[in-house]
Amino acid sequence: MTNHHKYIGAHVSASGGVENAPLNAAAIGANAFALFTKNQRQWIAKPLAAESINLFRENCNKFNFKPEFILPHDSYLINLGHPQNEGLEKSRMAFLDEMQRCEQLGLTMLNFHPGSHLNEVSEDKCLRTIAESINQVLDKTRGVTAVIENTSGQGSNVGNRFEHLAAIIHQVEDKTRIGVCIDTCHTYTAGYDLTTELGYQQTWNEFDRIVGSIYLKAIHLNDSKKALGSRVDRHDNIGEGLMGSNFFAKFINDSRFNHIPIILETPDESKWASEIDWLRSQINS
Ligand SMILES: [Zn+2]
Ligand SMILES: [Zn+2]
Repeated sequence: MTNHHKYIGAHVSASGGVENAPLNAAAIGANAFALFTKNQRQWIAKPLAAESINLFRENCNKFNFKPEFILPHDSYLINLGHPQNEGLEKSRMAFLDEMQRCEQLGLTMLNFHPGSHLNEVSEDKCLRTIAESINQVLDKTRGVTAVIENTSGQGSNVGNRFEHLAAIIHQVEDKTRIGVCIDTCHTYTAGYDLTTELGYQQTWNEFDRIVGSIYLKAIHLNDSKKALGSRVDRHDNIGEGLMGSNFFAKFINDSRFNHIPIILETPDESKWASEIDWLRSQINS
């Protein structure tokens, strides 16, 4: 039985052109998806071709993928909290380009990792720089919400504490275009134990109290190869990692996650279709 409240998909390939992403998502039975709108490991990309943009919109319509369930992810190179001017300016230009690509595709969100202090500035200063980067880019764009992802806190990455997300949001001027994506693997490895009954309730209560549920725009649903609080980011397939199937069965029945994209970034993509099927099968109707 189809559940009409849950929008589940994966971060699918856009190789050969962004127009292929909705086709790849439809092929695994998804009703949501994530994609890169350019090569995520390069700074500069060719502008999107008009034909690619039209085909992307056509394919999304054909398979009924609405913008609120499509979550583009920015390049891994971008650091909006970069402590040095050159790296910061380069990141801000690249982020603006990514936001503009979303505008062209008719998309309404851009998901990104907050940034890293590189051990050169304090966490607070880094968070301030990130908020300022967001303010500058929101000023130059229309209709696209910047969606901050929580992190494992690996290396010098910020974003592993809910307080970090709240500090960024607090300093963003246009609160209507800022949101959060919670990655379950990152949450767990950052030290929030989603796998026990008490930990599950406490984590989401804390999220609501510190950040605010109104800012929750998306979920990255991943199991973890690394331990609770390890601050190491290694995704695992659903039910195969340390978080275990019980967590995912509970999660998928939680109405707090209705009507937002729930995106798999699990390493073995040959399992995406069966992971989506399994998650749907766990929904108590
Ligand atoms: Zn993620
Ligand atoms: Zn990750």
